[in-house]
Amino acid sequence: MANSPRPLVAGNWKMNGVNASLDEIYKLADKLKGGAYDCNVMICPPATIIRAAKKAADGSRIEIGAQDCHTQQSGAHTGDLSAAILKDAGASAVIVGHSERRADHGETDELVKQKAAAAHSQGLVAIICVGETLEQRKAGETLEVISGQVAGSMPEGCNAQNTVIAYEPVWAIGSGLTPTVEEVAEVHTHIRKDITSALGDAIGGEIALLYGGSVKPTNAEELMAAANVNGALVGGASLKADDFFGIIQAYE
Ligand code: PEP
Repeated sequence: MANSPRPLVAGNWKMNGVNASLDEIYKLADKLKGGAYDCNVMICPPATIIRAAKKAADGSRIEIGAQDCHTQQSGAHTGDLSAAILKDAGASAVIVGHSERRADHGETDELVKQKAAAAHSQGLVAIICVGETLEQRKAGETLEVISGQVAGSMPEGCNAQNTVIAYEPVWAIGSGLTPTVEEVAEVHTHIRKDITSALGDAIGGEIALLYGGSVKPTNAEELMAAANVNGALVGGASLKADDFFGIIQAYE
């Protein structure tokens, strides 16, 4: 399987995870021991357990990320968390523009861009999410929607060290439905074209493009083999070490 860009399998725990859930990180670290998996591995737990998750992952290859950040680094924003705070807690990356945040909090491409810039300014990798709704797919608007989100959500200065893009069709998230491998390849190849024309081959060709939406151990291998797919962003199936490990095994 292609190893450039370097693949990433990232777990998004969403609003799931308490101290007891750290056992899954210990279990996963144990399972990964000694295996040759050609990908990076990350878990993005709720912010309250980032520091403990980082400690649980200590000595393993598991990196810890966060699920959202504010556009500012500090100040009067009750309840929000900045990239600086997340970094201080132990995160090395942060998801921005997840469709649940776009839907639940009305996040726009412009806001997502500012959040990604805030992440970059703290040395965090921004995992920028894009994806079409079912209505948009049915109307044949997928590629146009994705192009708009990619262009609108990427700040200046994106490169393979500070940016990952996750294509997550909204209708595939948590639904058990997935696009066909051909549909995934079509969108990923389209994103690759967009970012190489915007940033040049050397930069745009090296940014990892993750697929997300109902990835499971049973479909990971074929989805990860699609053209221009460089890993996965995994929700439900990242909560249990056994399932998440089953997905990572696509890179064995
Ligand atoms: C996600 O929300 O990022 C996601 C991909 O969820 P799931 O794997 O549960 O579809």
